[in-house]
Amino acid sequence: KVAVVLFTRDLRVHDHPALAASVRAAEHVVPLFVHDPSLPAGSNRRTFLDGCLSDLASSLRQRGGDLVTLRGDPVDCALRVAKQVGAAGIAMSADVSGFARARSQRLAAACAAEGVAFREFPGVTIAEPGSLRPGGGGSHYKVFTPYYRAWQASSLREVHGAPRRISLPEDMPKSWFATGDPDAVSGESAARERLSSWLTHLESYGDHHDDLAADRTSRLSPYLHFGCLSPRELVARVDGHAGAEPFVRQLCWRDFYHQVLSAFPDLRRRPYRPGAEDSWRDEPDALEAWKAGHTGVPIVDAGMRQMLQEGWMHNRARLITASYLTKHLYLDWRAGGDHFYDLLLDGDVANNYGNWQWVAGTGNDTKPYRRFNPLRQAERFDPTGDYVRRYVPELADIPGKAIHEPWKQPASTRRGYPSPLALDAK
Ligand code: FAD
Repeated sequence: KVAVVLFTRDLRVHDHPALAASVRAAEHVVPLFVHDPSLPAGSNRRTFLDGCLSDLASSLRQRGGDLVTLRGDPVDCALRVAKQVGAAGIAMSADVSGFARARSQRLAAACAAEGVAFREFPGVTIAEPGSLRPGGGGSHYKVFTPYYRAWQASSLREVHGAPRRISLPEDMPKSWFATGDPDAVSGESAARERLSSWLTHLESYGDHHDDLAADRTSRLSPYLHFGCLSPRELVARVDGHAGAEPFVRQLCWRDFYHQVLSAFPDLRRRPYRPGAEDSWRDEPDALEAWKAGHTGVPIVDAGMRQMLQEGWMHNRARLITASYLTKHLYLDWRAGGDHFYDLLLDGDVANNYGNWQWVAGTGNDTKPYRRFNPLRQAERFDPTGDYVRRYVPELADIPGKAIHEPWKQPASTRRGYPSPLALDAK
């Protein structure tokens, strides 16, 4: 018996329910990834993805298998492979975006027409979207705290080990297999190393996760986005460790936005909250200045430049920069969200647009009119100014927290740094 496992953003061998079940049930397993040219992904994510795939192929090879890598429509390719190897079934991890769901539905229909079994498994989130529902018949939780309570009380599925051996059918076409060297940055191996080394910081996560200069958050988000790490396994790994609770709470935010997206597929384009104010200024120059990290507000510019340089931005800086765009410049959250989505290694529809709508006041925040004052945020979360100094080198000579208000300094120390586009009175 032969089974095909279609990988999407679950690029790992550990705790992969679809892979584990297929290896258990079938004599031969064909792991498959299809590059879909219709799927938009910024170039940062595309490079990261290539590394993930090389690492996955290498892990599969160590177990006797390999990764079939094709380009085209995933439904056509999966079915073509299944027919050619005589597979009885195709398995994959269920995902929640409108795009992913349409793909699954097409694949299910195509499989039914060809007499191939199709099955979806959990694995992308910890709790499956839709598995927790509020009383009163709602399709999903709209507010985080009650969701978190229900989530904590729910029982989690078992964690699967990596399969020991994967056996490919004989005579597979050589052209199906890509060659590429794993890099040290992306992929499951790098993710597991990053996790092991970061766990020493878990205990102080609650105290330091908002400290911009300390940079003490896990930086696991790109790995979680591509599924190089199973979020379910991550919870099991930290369970019982001192300091785990605030970290697990953040992982729950990820599940929360996935269940929101599952119930509200238009999250990218349409305000989630009925009746939310959704009119914005049209000021292309201000938008460009924000994107480039030239707003004249150092804490905002530092965040934007961190993302340009690293393809990643600290969560506190994401909150400050997004709030500045929508609640100081009054520019559209969709423009901000699209820019983030383009550049972030962890850019994903649920987390990115869910958070953007939260900040813009069109989403799940129960206080939609809250607005972060960038100067107060800078004083609280970058009290020494070291985060700004790292990313805005033209201000580096301004000592201590005075760096947050360069307009109070003589022009010579500002080295051409612009005046603020907009700012609250303190
Ligand atoms: P840690 O603090 O170590 O947290 C561990 C994990 O929990 C993260 O890797 C992430 O998977 C999850 N998590 C943490 N905070 C959140 C949150 N607020 N919402 C959802 N999940 C969370 N996260 C993304 O993964 N992709 C995005 O595209 C994205 N866009 C964002 C846009 C805005 C405007 C804001 C305010 C936040 C966004 N986030 C996004 C959430 C958060 O900023 C990142 O997940 C976090 O900064 C990643 O760093 P980390 O792995 O070190 O996080």
